[in-house]
Amino acid sequence: MRNISPLFAYDTQIWTPYPPSFSSQKALLPNNPFIFEDDIYSFLSRILLMIRSVTDLDVQGKKVLVRVDFNVPLHEDGTITDDKRIVESLPTIENLTSRGAIVILMSHLGRPKGKRNLAYSLAPVAAHLRTLTTAHVHFADDCIGEAAQSVIASANPGDIVLLENVRFYAEEEANDADFIKSLAHLGDMYVNDAFGTAHRAHATTTGIASHFTERAAGLLMQKELQYLGDALGKPQRPFTAILGGSKVSGKIDVIRQLMNSCDTILIGGGMMFTFYKAMGYETGSSLVEADKVSLAKDILDAAKAQNVRLLLPTDAVIANAFSNEAERTIVTVDHIPAGWMGLDIGPATCAVYTEAILSSKTIVWNGPMGVFEMSNFAAGTLAVAQALTQATAQGAITVIGGGDSAAAIAQFGLEKQVSHVSTGGGASLEFLEGKPLPGVEALSL
Ligand code: AMP
Repeated sequence: MRNISPLFAYDTQIWTPYPPSFSSQKALLPNNPFIFEDDIYSFLSRILLMIRSVTDLDVQGKKVLVRVDFNVPLHEDGTITDDKRIVESLPTIENLTSRGAIVILMSHLGRPKGKRNLAYSLAPVAAHLRTLTTAHVHFADDCIGEAAQSVIASANPGDIVLLENVRFYAEEEANDADFIKSLAHLGDMYVNDAFGTAHRAHATTTGIASHFTERAAGLLMQKELQYLGDALGKPQRPFTAILGGSKVSGKIDVIRQLMNSCDTILIGGGMMFTFYKAMGYETGSSLVEADKVSLAKDILDAAKAQNVRLLLPTDAVIANAFSNEAERTIVTVDHIPAGWMGLDIGPATCAVYTEAILSSKTIVWNGPMGVFEMSNFAAGTLAVAQALTQATAQGAITVIGGGDSAAAIAQFGLEKQVSHVSTGGGASLEFLEGKPLPGVEALSL
């Protein structure tokens, strides 16, 4: 019998990997659109019991295909502006090289739209990887076929081969069976360490997994699932979620899900104005999604019904134009004049939110509180980031979803002072929404 060492040990019950339809698990209760019949997060954590870790694989002398997310931002001259995703995959890569595997890395970079376009070549990433590891790094200028095979054949145990961008083939995103076969042919085992692309059902994230009985999660994938899974599945209470960003439409499913598990939800960012519209306030020229106003009202009602403390800002920084140079002032949210727009939460709100954060034991943050890219509207996001670092120092678990909140905390230089900053914006959002991640499901045995 195969040795299965669970990544997570919430309980000892082993489930068959998946019920026939995950979506049928989401059957809504008749009268309340925001309560689900089952506990999605504990369902997810049970799924994780069926996944092995890379450390369980016997890799000596084996060719191990590893899906990484090296989709890093690049300058025009090819230098990498932020190598976090590469650095975060090093523990998995080094675990394998140190045990004598030939590590074959697969990744995408940008959106070359299924065409070979050297503006999206991973060659600069190979060059950067050479500066981060003592292992010999080869680069294959195609991800399948003779070019890939000959480079792999020349590699020794302990070496790394980075394959060219898998999205140079439209078949990658199409999860194409023949393309998958060509890739699978290159290795003996499969490891997925690309949490940032785990929400995509592509050839290298899902289709390829079924070709290998020896398949496992990498250490970064494990870490991401562990932090997000623990925070959502078995939070230390009080449990607070902070949700911001531009639009409420992108966060509705997250708010719905979090209302089932959070004690407090703090709202900020552009989405707050749709809530104010729902409350009958004038919002000037602030960002409002007119077609989501009634939904915002439903959310406010449901929070009341479920006894969830859902806080909205009481004051805002408003400006007379969407510009860092615009005239600006602070008002209470029921006094936004015509022609003015709210671009940040105000200082009174910062104080209340800081207190709520500091009295919590688990905090999950997704989405900035204001237009943090402009220095005059970054104070609210900075205040939340600073409160998170203080809460972490006091022993709270603090998890930052990827994307803009990760960019913000990095901009403030505070990312090392929180428990975990996710490498996957879209993936962590879908995890928070309680959606299954295809890249994770595909690993289950
Ligand atoms: P999202 O992609 O939905 O998470 O939104 C992130 C973006 O929301 C950031 O680029 C912020 O600049 C923007 N944002 C935050 N607050 C506001 C606001 N009050 N008005 C307009 N945009 C905002």
